[in-house]
Amino acid sequence: MAIQKPYNILPSPKMGVLSADYLEQLAAVVRKYDLPFLKITSAQRLAIAGHDPAILEDLWRDLGQNSGPQKPVGIHYIQACPGVKWCKYGRQDSLALGEKLEKALGSMPLPAKTKVGVSGCPMNCCECYIRDVGIFGMKKGWTLVFGGNGGGVPRIGDIIGEGLSDTEVIDLAAQCLTFYAEHARKMERTGRLMTRTPLEKLKEFLV
Ligand code: SF4
Repeated sequence: MAIQKPYNILPSPKMGVLSADYLEQLAAVVRKYDLPFLKITSAQRLAIAGHDPAILEDLWRDLGQNSGPQKPVGIHYIQACPGVKWCKYGRQDSLALGEKLEKALGSMPLPAKTKVGVSGCPMNCCECYIRDVGIFGMKKGWTLVFGGNGGGVPRIGDIIGEGLSDTEVIDLAAQCLTFYAEHARKMERTGRLMTRTPLEKLKEFLV
C-alpha cells in the first residue's frame, strides 16, 4: 500500500533558538523512525515529511508535544533574528521582543493566519516588510510595519510607527491586530485587508 506523505511543520524552540538537548532529542526521533526528510523552513521551524501517518501521534509525543499545531488562524508564528546580543549589526533585542510579543499577543483570536517577524536592525533579515506584523530595530527604537505579505499576491506593509519602546511597539501591534480582527473578512489576511482599506482608516483607529 502506498504511504501518504503528509508534510508537517513542527514548531521548534521559540524564535528558532536551539539547544543541545533539543538537537539530541530531535536526532533520536529521526533515527528511531528513520525519517526520510527533515528541513529547517524559512519560518525558522522544522518540516518533517515522508513518514507513515500512523506514527504521527508517537512522533509528536517523542518530540515532547501532545500534537501538531492546533491554530489554523491567529498568530501562526513569531520569527526573530539574533538581534543586538548576537549580531554585530544589531540595534535592538529582537529575541527578547519576540518573547514579549508571544506572551502578549500569542493567543489573540484573529480572522486568518498571521505571521510576525522581528529584526534587530534595518537589514531586516526577518523580512519585516512582508510580514503581517513586521518590527525592526533602529538606534532610537522599533519601527512597526503592518499588512505585508510575501505570498502569491505580495504586498509591502505600511510603516505605522517609529522610534518605539518595547511596550509601545507591543501596544501598537495589538491595536493594529484589533483593527484587523474587527474589519477583516473571515480568512482574509492583513495584506488583503489593507489593500482594500485606506491607511487613514487604520490611523484614525489607532489611539
Ligand atoms: S536583521 Fe540585523 S541584527 Fe538581525 S540578523 Fe540581520 S543583520 Fe543581524
